[in-house]
Amino acid sequence: MSNFKQAEGKRVAVIGGGVVGCLTALYLHELGAKPIVLEKGMTGQQSSWAGAGILCPIHPWLYPDSFTHLIDRSLAMYPAMNEMLLDKTGLSMQWHKSGLLIPLFEDDRIHHREEALAWSRRFTWKVEELDAAQTQAHEKTISEQVSGSLLWPEVGQIRNPRLLAAVKKALELCHIPVREHAEVVALGEDSQGDINAVILANGEVVPADAALLAAGSWSGELAKQIGLELPVEPVKGQIVLLKDEPGKINHIIKHDDVYMVPRSDGHILVGASMERVGFEEGTTEKVIDSLLDATYRITPGLKSAKVVNQWMGFRPGSPDGMPYLGPVEGRQGLWVASGHYRNGVALAPGTADLMSRWIMGEKPAMDLADFRVDRPVVELSKIGLPARSK
Ligand SMILES: Cc1cc2nc3c(=O)[nH]c(=O)nc-3n(C[C@H](O)[C@H](O)[C@H](O)COP(=O)(O)OP(=O)(O)OC[C@H]3O[C@@H](n4cnc5c(N)ncnc54)[C@H](O)[C@@H]3O)c2cc1C
Repeated sequence: MSNFKQAEGKRVAVIGGGVVGCLTALYLHELGAKPIVLEKGMTGQQSSWAGAGILCPIHPWLYPDSFTHLIDRSLAMYPAMNEMLLDKTGLSMQWHKSGLLIPLFEDDRIHHREEALAWSRRFTWKVEELDAAQTQAHEKTISEQVSGSLLWPEVGQIRNPRLLAAVKKALELCHIPVREHAEVVALGEDSQGDINAVILANGEVVPADAALLAAGSWSGELAKQIGLELPVEPVKGQIVLLKDEPGKINHIIKHDDVYMVPRSDGHILVGASMERVGFEEGTTEKVIDSLLDATYRITPGLKSAKVVNQWMGFRPGSPDGMPYLGPVEGRQGLWVASGHYRNGVALAPGTADLMSRWIMGEKPAMDLADFRVDRPVVELSKIGLPARSK
């Protein structure tokens, strides 16, 4: 008998059709639940579409150990998720291990060399130290000013729009209902205060035994509407897309907050700004120019690349940089999976697996206390929200 027999047929309203909501709905279905995805716009068009698809946090050594445990757990699920989606849909997310290289410049005011090496050894992430000549041999476009680099050869990447296309197709093939242009504005509760429905902007009542708040950057606003304190807010990120010959760079190259992500067809995605400007849409010349300036300083050999596109997205930011995962105390049937900030794609399979099992009644297989929904708000965390600029 399945571990989830008792919860079979549980109706779970998943609020938000990003990677977190869609993948959790798919995993819930696999466990015998009856999920429905409710999306206020179009599924997979927000942060989950816009992101860079790097499968490694930006500075993982700055986070608590519990975060690395969650990342490791999630990344270990990528091969199985990739295979499952490929088998089901025939669509590839182009998951591969391109490696991540951090060049070190003599004039770097701070670089994280020692912390990065110590973290890598502690959590057995394979890392190599390269001198200047070895760095040049790995990446020919890189500046001659680099004195060396750190290389994590196992770091992977995916292409976000392709991951989302595969997940959407899988939902369709599993006949999981996905309602677009269906904004959730309230929850229905029975006389005990237990969740029994979600309510849409058009007044429609969707019956549910449980609701999962997975509304990305909008989770904080919606939480307020339903009487919950959840400090999730948008952190805008702008990206510029270059095109060069395939193989011009081969690794993800990252320096400070700027990274270049090479795709196999010669596209190179350069990201990303960190702006706390609310839901201000659109790219700006100033930010795009600063991303290009940094690119040409780090990798002068990319000056010949064509600029072909630019876009932005809203990361669901949290004050301590960590997601909120779990049930809401005192609101039976209400769950949260939000605030994945800069790491929602890397954390997606781990989140979907843990949340789906938890909602179906299984105790989480790892300690998730640091991610609980009612944890204290930490201001000024190095990895949390940047200073407000508006
Ligand atoms: C520029 C940029 C670069 C990034 N790079 C990386 C990276 O390299 N690696 C990585 O792991 N992560 C990266 N991220 C972060 C990652 O993309 C996010 O953490 C992740 O996509 C969050 O997924 P989500 O499903 O929570 O949110 P979203 O994808 O934003 O989805 C939330 C959905 O909820 C819907 N919604 C909101 N309110 C309601 C409502 N009331 N009712 C119904 N639906 C609602 C929205 O319309 C939206 O579709 C990046 C993000 C950005 C913007």
